[in-house]
Amino acid sequence: MQISNTEITVMAKKCSGCAYCYLICPSNAINMYYNKIIIEKSLCTMCKKCLYVCPKDAIKISSFVLFNNKDYEVQE
Ligand code: SF4
Ligand code: SF4
Repeated sequence: MQISNTEITVMAKKCSGCAYCYLICPSNAINMYYNKIIIEKSLCTMCKKCLYVCPKDAIKISSFVLFNNKDYEVQE
């Protein structure tokens, strides 16, 4: 069995809390809580606007592949 999934993730250590991604997201998929970014994955349309606007390169696309019931993360 092989299932793949792609999603936006935030590297918290790189994030400065500038809120640029929060302000640009057209789907209201990004929330801020005490300067921390939380992405509501069910609302994300993968438009990648947050990825391009982040000045700290803190947002990345992660691809997860479930292969034989083991979860692997693939860096793009
Ligand atoms: S990829 Fe687009 S929809 Fe998803 S969190 Fe980023 S800006 Fe919002
Ligand atoms: S744009 Fe980047 S640095 Fe700014 S809040 Fe979003 S993830 Fe953090």
